Amino acid sequence: MFCNQCEQTAKGTACTALGVCGKKPDVAALQDLVIYACQGLSCVAHAAAQKGVTDKDTDLFLYKAVFSTLTNVNFDPERFVPLIAKAVELRVCLQAKLNPLGVPAPDCDAARFTPASDLDGLVAQGEAHPLTALDPDADIASLKQTVIYGVKGVAAYADHAALLGQYDAGVAAYIYEALASALRTDLDLGAWVDLAMRCGTANLKAMELLDAGNTGTYGHPVPTAVPIGHRKGKAILVSGHDLKDLETLLKATQGKGIDIYTHGEMLPTHGYPKLKAYPHFFGHYGTAWQNQIKEFGAFPGAILMTTNCIQKPQASYLPNIFTTGLVGWPGAVHVGNEDFSAVIKRALELPGFTDDEDRGTVNVGFGRNAVLGVAGAVIDAVKAGKIRHFFLVGGCDGAKPGRNYYTEFVEKAPKDTVILTLACGKFRFFDKQLGEIGGIPRLLDIGQCNDAYSAIQIALALAGAFNCGVNELPLSLILSWYEQKAVAILLTLLSLGIKNIRLGPSLPAFITPNVLDFLVNNFGIKPITTPDEDLKAILG
Ligand code: SF4
Repeated sequence: MFCNQCEQTAKGTACTALGVCGKKPDVAALQDLVIYACQGLSCVAHAAAQKGVTDKDTDLFLYKAVFSTLTNVNFDPERFVPLIAKAVELRVCLQAKLNPLGVPAPDCDAARFTPASDLDGLVAQGEAHPLTALDPDADIASLKQTVIYGVKGVAAYADHAALLGQYDAGVAAYIYEALASALRTDLDLGAWVDLAMRCGTANLKAMELLDAGNTGTYGHPVPTAVPIGHRKGKAILVSGHDLKDLETLLKATQGKGIDIYTHGEMLPTHGYPKLKAYPHFFGHYGTAWQNQIKEFGAFPGAILMTTNCIQKPQASYLPNIFTTGLVGWPGAVHVGNEDFSAVIKRALELPGFTDDEDRGTVNVGFGRNAVLGVAGAVIDAVKAGKIRHFFLVGGCDGAKPGRNYYTEFVEKAPKDTVILTLACGKFRFFDKQLGEIGGIPRLLDIGQCNDAYSAIQIALALAGAFNCGVNELPLSLILSWYEQKAVAILLTLLSLGIKNIRLGPSLPAFITPNVLDFLVNNFGIKPITTPDEDLKAILG
C-alpha cells in the first residue's frame, strides 16, 4: 500500500505497511479501486456532459463512492465491493445513452475496467491501479494528488448537502472532469493549477449548498451555552458531522428517557434552533476525534458514528458503538435506513450516567447570521481600537504534540484580539474563558469544518463594511489540517485569493518543493513556527 492523503501519514511521507489510522493494505487497495472505477465513470460522464446528458442519481452515487475513501470513514473491505460494481454499472448505462448520439466510449483502460468477481480479485485490481501511479513528473503528480484529495473533500460536503435536499449539477461536473483529467498525461502544470483552483470553487459551492441545507432545515445557529458535564440517566453519544442523523435520533428517542450528547464535530449542532428545541438534547461529552478511544471507553451509553472520524473501536466499547451512513468498521454493528432502534435498545441496556456533574458550559452558535447580526458593534469596536485583530484559528485536530501550538497561540493572543474558530481544532482551547470586548465574546465558535463557508461570508461582509479586500482586513488565518476536507477548504481559500495563511502542524506529504514554492510565491502560505514568533510577525 501507499497512502499519503492525510496529515498523520507515516514518517511524514506515506503509510506503506499499515495506515497510522488503522487502514489495512486490502482496504487501501479497494479505496484506490473505488477511485479508479469512478475515474472510468468520470470519463464517460464528462463526455456525456458535453452532449448535455446528465444523471442526478449517478452524481449522488459519485459523491458517496468518493467520500467513502476519505480518511477515517470506512475500514470494512466488504462495503467497497458494491460501490465498485455500481460505478461500473452506471458507466455502462451512461455509455449506452451516448452510443445512439454517436459518442464513442472513451479510449482509456479505466473506461473498460471490469471488476473481479471476488474480494481477493478486487484487492489485486486495486493494487494494480494505485492512486500514486499518477504521473512521471513529480510536480504534476503532486498537483494531481492535491486535486484528487480535494475532490474527496468536495464529495463529502456535496453528499452531506444532498442528504438535506441540496444539489448542484456543476459540483458533480467538476468532479467528473477532475477525476477524468487525472488519467491524462498531456496536461501541463498550468492546467493542473487551474484544476486545483476550480476544486476550491466547486468546494465553495458544495459548502454553500450544505449551509443552505443546514440553516434551511434547522434554522440559523444562535449563541447557545452547551453543558459539558452530564446528568443522571440513559445516554447516547453522537459523533461525526451529519445533522440529519442527529435529528432522526432525537425524534426516535423522544419520551424514552434517554439524553443525547454530542462528541467532536457535532458540538456546534447545539446552536441550531430546531435541534436545540428537543429537551433531551442535553450537552457535549469529550473533545476531538483522536481522543475517542479514551472517551468512548468511559461513556456509559450507546455511541453512534455518523460520517467520518472513526478509529479502531476497543473491545471495551465495541458492543456499544454503531456506525451509519458511509462509516464502517469490521465487527461494529452498522445501522442503515435511518433506523436507530438497535442504538436505542443498547442505550437502554447500558447503565447511563448515575449522577449529575456540572462542568460548566461552552458557547457555540456564532455562525454568519449571529456574527453579522452584531456587525455594527464589531465594526465600531475595530474603529475605536478596542479590537486590534481577528484570528481565525481553525481546522482539524489530531494526535501530534505539535498541535499544542494552537492552544498556546490562543492563550497568548493579546486581550484586544478576537478568536474565530471552527472545526474540531477548537477542542485545543474550546473551554477557555477568554472574556469579552465590549460585550463581544473573544472566542466565537462558527461551527463545523464546513462552516468555513460561514467564516468566508463573515470575512467578505467585514471587507465590504471596511471598503477593502479580505487580505487588507485585520484578520489572520491560522489553520490546522488533517484530512481531505481540509485540503478542499484550503483550495477554496486560495481560489478566493486569500493570502498569508499559516498552515500546520506539518505540510502535506504530497506537496513537492516546487509546488510549495508556487504556493509561497503566489499566496504567501507559511508553515506555522511558534506562537510567539507568529504573533510577533502578525501584530508587530
Ligand atoms: S489515511 Fe492517513 S493514516 Fe490512513 S493510511 Fe492514509 S496517510 Fe496513512
